[in-house]
Amino acid sequence: MRAIIIGAGITGPVTAMALQKAGIDAVVHEAYDRTADGVGAYLNLAPNGLAALRVLDIDPHDLGGFDTPALELRGSGGRLLAHLPMGRDDGPGTVSQTVRRSDLYTRLRDEAVRRGIQIEYGKRLVDAAEGPGGRGVVASFADGSTAEGDLLIGADGLHSAVRTILDRGCPPPRYTGLLNTGGYASGVSVDAPAGVFTMIFGRRAFFAYVQRAPGDVWWFANVPRARAASDDELAAWTPDRWRAELERLFADDAGPALELIAATPRVISPWNTLDLPKVPVWHRGPIGLVGDAAHGISPTSGQGASLSIEDGVLLARLLRDHGEPVAAFAAFEALRRGRVEKLIAQAKRTSNQKIPSPLTRVLRDRVILPLVSRAAARSTKDWVTDYRIDWDAPADRDASASRLRA
Ligand SMILES: Cc1cc2nc3c(=O)[nH]c(=O)nc-3n(C[C@H](O)[C@H](O)[C@H](O)COP(=O)(O)OP(=O)(O)OC[C@H]3O[C@@H](n4cnc5c(N)ncnc54)[C@H](O)[C@@H]3O)c2cc1C
Repeated sequence: MRAIIIGAGITGPVTAMALQKAGIDAVVHEAYDRTADGVGAYLNLAPNGLAALRVLDIDPHDLGGFDTPALELRGSGGRLLAHLPMGRDDGPGTVSQTVRRSDLYTRLRDEAVRRGIQIEYGKRLVDAAEGPGGRGVVASFADGSTAEGDLLIGADGLHSAVRTILDRGCPPPRYTGLLNTGGYASGVSVDAPAGVFTMIFGRRAFFAYVQRAPGDVWWFANVPRARAASDDELAAWTPDRWRAELERLFADDAGPALELIAATPRVISPWNTLDLPKVPVWHRGPIGLVGDAAHGISPTSGQGASLSIEDGVLLARLLRDHGEPVAAFAAFEALRRGRVEKLIAQAKRTSNQKIPSPLTRVLRDRVILPLVSRAAARSTKDWVTDYRIDWDAPADRDASASRLRA
């Protein structure tokens, strides 16, 4: 089999490496040229995503991130509401990693290339159709070129063109009620152990920070906003206006938000937080979706990248086992849909808790978070972070596994 992969973000290169392990050739086609690297924020790689990378012999410590073993949730006055582990600290690579998105992208792509995988840049997919005689698939790109393969995998992110090709009526991404922003503060110290995230439910907005090393503090903020900001409204937030707005939002909260914002040379411009609660069509014939294209999840979950990596590894295993794409895509959907949709719904509920009203604040601080904290302390198994892909599992184990995991 020869696979055409669309998108060289996180899922595309991972899927290509997993396919190579399964003995399947793949070429990755990316819309942008490499200059798109280096932009933006950072993300969390959870133990389930790290475990999936280890199936591909990728050491999470080679990705440029740092260990993030726990997070603390605090109220606007500084009161500790919950302490939550981010993985089980029982060996290297078993707790979450925090990594710049650009580092993760670059290193995964570089590793794929080092393994001999071809990545073609400047190839924006505009159409895909079955090949002559109904065999295989032909992809068409904006530059007029085409590519042929036995299957096409859409790893082209939240605004996927492949998703629209599969289903013109697919619902668009949903705005989750929050603007996102962040930055990297330098030359400041905070009162928190290295790697432990402190997250503050502020009076007007949500603020989180983590110390990577002394004087090097990464932070993000979620700002409630009833409706999505238009491009014009986002553009109107010049760096100075946006910084001033953040200072106003966090002026009355305990914690170092104001100091960290002041120590940040370039605050990242705000963007709308989106998700995709339900994508009706994941595959048709030899064309299927993986990663954010199939199930965009709010960054609040800390799971977008990890789910995407799981997808790539599992789909490759299923293609190896089934030997053809139609059955493999169907098995993939049966195994994945329950898990990812449950997580997307959970992330939306968490996002709602960042949109404070007097009633939700009391419920959250007095009932929900103490319960979550106690449950985390008691739990021996976590359905999200303890998920593992057994690369050597026989195909017929999948049906029972999907029931357990949904
Ligand atoms: C700012 C931000 C913070 C985040 N924080 C977290 C976090 O803390 N934890 C977490 O796990 N996740 C987080 N996420 C989500 C995470 O980045 C995504 O879940 C992950 O990147 C999905 O990977 P992907 O490869 O499926 O999609 P993407 O990373 O979006 O990659 C898609 C690729 O496809 C390319 N492409 C698009 N259209 C076409 C086309 N027509 N033809 C060819 N190529 C195309 C794009 O250029 C891109 O390179 C965050 C996302 C954002 C935006």
